[in-house]
Amino acid sequence: MKLPALDGGCHLYWGSTTNGYGQIREHGRTRYVHRIAAREAGMDIEGKTIDHLCRRRNCVNVAHLQVVSREENTRREKDETWRKFALFLLDQAKREGAA
Ligand SMILES: [Zn+2]
Repeated sequence: MKLPALDGGCHLYWGSTTNGYGQIREHGRTRYVHRIAAREAGMDIEGKTIDHLCRRRNCVNVAHLQVVSREENTRREKDETWRKFALFLLDQAKREGAA
């Protein structure tokens, strides 16, 4: 299976990062940029984890973010088949102009 290249679709945040995740200050608190991006896009992120389908922690393209439970996120991290499928989904989205 040939994996698609995703670089074109990622919106990478180049500000300060922790463990590769982009950070920003909001109301005096440090927050992850991808969580704010998801929240601003109308996703319900309270108590949930956000999975980067593209595996780039500083990517803030909401088309690459999925809100999942902590358990689901852990399961996906270990699941190579899921990862390949996620890359396929992203490639499809890019072809359709959504990413
Ligand atoms: Zn991305």
